Amino acid sequence: MSDISSSAPPFRHLLGIEGLSPSDISEILDLSDEYVAQNRQVDKKRSILGGRAQINLFFETSTRTQTSFELAGKRLGADVINMTATASAIKKGETLIDTAATLNAMHPDALVVRHPHSGAVALLSQKMDCSVINAGDGSHEHPTQALLDALTIRRRLGQLHGLTVAICGDILHSRVARSNIMLLNIMGAHVRAIAPPTLLPVAMERMGVEVFHDMTQGLEDVDIVMMLRLQNERMRGAFVPSTREYYHFFGLDREKLAKAKPEALIMHPGPMNRGVEIDSELADDINRSVIREQVEMGVAVRMAVLDLLSRRPGNQPPVGPDTGPETGPEGAQP
Ligand code: ASP
Repeated sequence: MSDISSSAPPFRHLLGIEGLSPSDISEILDLSDEYVAQNRQVDKKRSILGGRAQINLFFETSTRTQTSFELAGKRLGADVINMTATASAIKKGETLIDTAATLNAMHPDALVVRHPHSGAVALLSQKMDCSVINAGDGSHEHPTQALLDALTIRRRLGQLHGLTVAICGDILHSRVARSNIMLLNIMGAHVRAIAPPTLLPVAMERMGVEVFHDMTQGLEDVDIVMMLRLQNERMRGAFVPSTREYYHFFGLDREKLAKAKPEALIMHPGPMNRGVEIDSELADDINRSVIREQVEMGVAVRMAVLDLLSRRPGNQPPVGPDTGPETGPEGAQP
């Protein structure tokens, strides 16, 4: 590893992209590049997190994010424990704060959390002595997704600055869109949001994006086309007349893609709904689609984040009152 590996980040938790500086982001991406190289070797394992415990606490289902956080921790030598809401005391009525206090008492060194409510991960982080990483909270933020997207783009196109990125589809319910919009703005890219009015947050322009309701206009000359899933699980009521009509107007097909730059890349955070937001053949187009590459970058980015956060001196488990026998007879407990 190069000497960039020696610095600790100025933040203790990774709760969102909001608040990160261009150099924070570049540092994570630079270290991620090193982990991409490591992950392509036969020997992928390091022991820099040896002896540390990482808990993945998921209150929502996940395939890519949970697996890649688990793999990332294990490749760095940590002991990784996966907890899902269905298997935990939450189902028995325990509050989020009590769950946090319980886990904190076990002195984990990193807690990775996914939760259906925006802000829940930040709340939980206030009760933990270790680093907390947001693996997606409601429709708020999904910082490691935006970082892995940025890594994918940077490795393909050299830099983020000056690129035009179109984020298309269900932006209203998407934490991926919010984190990406923030990151791309911080790094000097131009962001376009393309969606029907029902799937856009109010005052979207205030987030520093150009808004379009028509794919053919919005995709004109873009470098990156980032498609989003219709997040039915977060919808209360009908936001589109039918998936068929949605595909007709907002699904990515060859005709609409022809408006973008000839070498424009197609991205999708997954899971994909083929034939709803993206044409199946385009999703698999090896010249244009970088969807599988995004998954590969996810492991490297999560390794970089776990590595960097572990270097924060404040993230070491606190030394509590020692009640063990070695403190003397008064400290001895039955
Ligand atoms: N996997 C991403 C997320 O957790 C995107 C999605 O679910 O559509 O937000």
